[in-house]
Amino acid sequence: MFLRKKLKTSPKVAAKPDKPDLAEKPDLLDGLPDDLVVYILSKLSSSASCPSDFINVLLTCKRLNHLGLHPLVLSKAGTNTLAIRAKNWSESAHRFLKLCVNAGNTDSAYALGMIRFYCLQNQGSGTSLMAKAAIKSHAPALYSLSVIQFNGSGASRNEKDLRAGVALCARAAFLGHIDAVRELGHCLQDGYGVRQNIVKGRRLLVEANAREFMQSSPLPLTRTPHPKRLHCGSTTSGCPLLSDFGYNVGEPEMHPVNRFLKEWFESGKGELTPGLRLCSHRGCGRPETRSHEFRRCSVCGTVNYCSRGCQALDWKLRHKKECVPMDRWIIEDDGDGVEGMEIVGAGNVGPV
Ligand SMILES: [Zn+2]
Ligand SMILES: [Zn+2]
Repeated sequence: MFLRKKLKTSPKVAAKPDKPDLAEKPDLLDGLPDDLVVYILSKLSSSASCPSDFINVLLTCKRLNHLGLHPLVLSKAGTNTLAIRAKNWSESAHRFLKLCVNAGNTDSAYALGMIRFYCLQNQGSGTSLMAKAAIKSHAPALYSLSVIQFNGSGASRNEKDLRAGVALCARAAFLGHIDAVRELGHCLQDGYGVRQNIVKGRRLLVEANAREFMQSSPLPLTRTPHPKRLHCGSTTSGCPLLSDFGYNVGEPEMHPVNRFLKEWFESGKGELTPGLRLCSHRGCGRPETRSHEFRRCSVCGTVNYCSRGCQALDWKLRHKKECVPMDRWIIEDDGDGVEGMEIVGAGNVGPV
């Protein structure tokens, strides 16, 4: 169709005898030295907005295919270039990620590590790939390993290592990983795997909220009343920006790896063993590796989370509207360490 249109609209050009045929023109790409093409492809692999933007260039010709798989190009592949969707998972996608890992790309080590650990049931290799990324200070890999340690994922309940979880989480938090900052805040506040330090814990929770606010899309600083406030008449003191009541902070963008996990299990591409559940936080996608691995909301018992961080964030974004009414959970206290109240009340709602 394109060809027909072209012939129709440019008869004069075609009629000119001195105009050289396009097919006869020398390909300018052939004149470029390999190192320059590798440099250009590295720029493309680091900035492509999705895997196909990069892969389609590799499919153009033999030379680009060869140079596109150069370790220098693969080592620069960015998060979006590696963001393979679950529905597109194949042996060649697996091979592509492996080549990136071999080229020293930490993002791909993390992505393939998560996929192998949670989707392909290859926990040993998944952990070692994540460790490979974590050694190079890859914050999401450090955080994911900490979640695995906190839950004893892939092992028995008795093999939880809370101290290792806190150490990994602290390293990820130091690197500015928001979920890790929130998780560490809850650990310190509750004395979970670390000596209790309520003030420090609270400070980290405030920091997580502030970082989240800064990273969210530029929203006007308008205040919207919390829906439950009208019913319970509660007022919040302190800085409203950092509390759960007040400003609308947009839902954080989902990391491509978390999107992969979620789509993998929800689309049926991967089967979740009967009795195992996905983390109820929509932006997570982690599945349980054994039954009752994740913590439940002890107020309603209908949702479960891989981490305190996921629980607190989901509460803020969604679950507070679905759980029991606020007036009930404020009054109710069975003194049994109500997880939902503990995390939500102290972490996000209380005065700052
Ligand atoms: Zn609940
Ligand atoms: Zn989660």
